[in-house]
Amino acid sequence: MGGKKEKIILTGLRPTGALHIGNYFGALLPFVKMQETADKFFLMVADLHALTTLEDSKNLGQNSLSLAMAFVASGIDLKKSVIFVQSQIPQHSELAIALSMITPVPMLELNPTYKEMREEHPKNNNLGLLAYPILQASDILIYKSTEVPVGKDQSPHIEIAREIARKFNNRFGNVFPEPKTILQKEAKIFSLQEPSQKMSKSHGEKTYIALFDSPDIIREKIKIAVTDSGREIKYDEKNKPAISNLLTIYGLFEEKPIKEIEKEFEGKTYAEFKKDLAEIIIKGLAPLQKKYKELEKKPAHIKSVLEDGAKKAEKIASQTMLEVRQKIGLI
Ligand code: AMP
Repeated sequence: MGGKKEKIILTGLRPTGALHIGNYFGALLPFVKMQETADKFFLMVADLHALTTLEDSKNLGQNSLSLAMAFVASGIDLKKSVIFVQSQIPQHSELAIALSMITPVPMLELNPTYKEMREEHPKNNNLGLLAYPILQASDILIYKSTEVPVGKDQSPHIEIAREIARKFNNRFGNVFPEPKTILQKEAKIFSLQEPSQKMSKSHGEKTYIALFDSPDIIREKIKIAVTDSGREIKYDEKNKPAISNLLTIYGLFEEKPIKEIEKEFEGKTYAEFKKDLAEIIIKGLAPLQKKYKELEKKPAHIKSVLEDGAKKAEKIASQTMLEVRQKIGLI
């Protein structure tokens, strides 16, 4: 590589249940692109992070496997990327303990996402939620990641990771690069029932299209999606938020500029537009659904993908942890 610094990227998702088309355009597809630009790409099923707000862990194991299958089905290439489950690499937790010793509590208390999460999950105001950024710093630093792609809401966490890396290096000697935040352009998709809200699975089945919804369910959800007053199919976020959201979805699936879609549907009714949109979503998700179903039929395959990923991840994580132990004086 002619002395060029390696580009190491870590990212991941929490296995919190059904994925929807917002996750697809906002996370899965960007991950597939990212793997092409990185020298090392680590893609984590963040099951420990899921525990912070979990009310019932009965589906956590299955959700972790499903998420790993969704990564593969959406085009993650195992020759280019390492897919692994966070809890299967014990060094993440081990490093988090070491990093917690140099992390000031007020820095965590001031973290804006802590306040939001506490309000969203009042029953889960646990230490894990407060310490979430330490575990996230550990996820990033254990692979000496140089870049972390995140949405705007997560960027305070990466700032904390940078601060922790700096503190560690100053106090014990250089081990960690300070990871750069790569702000993701957000392709925001909104709820089908309440277009002022981000599409999310926590607002009810009718509000989102799940990646693995059947054609009939997709047709039904689009049919009953709310629209705006008037008749024109026109992108206007302020006055026509519902139609604008449906146009965004159409544009993402068809990879077409919205202006072109508006032209195509000039003089047509909302019902005609929605009918076409449903078919476009069904067609767009079909290859992913087919691949996912094939993976589901051979559950041993995804387990071996994760075993292989864990081996590769642990090799690096254990080297870093050895360095950390030496620097801080653990024998
Ligand atoms: P969540 O499980 O809600 O934390 O979402 C995981 C990731 O999926 C987020 O970090 C975003 O990148 C993406 N995402 C979630 N919801 C949406 C949405 N409505 N529109 C676009 N991207 C989304």
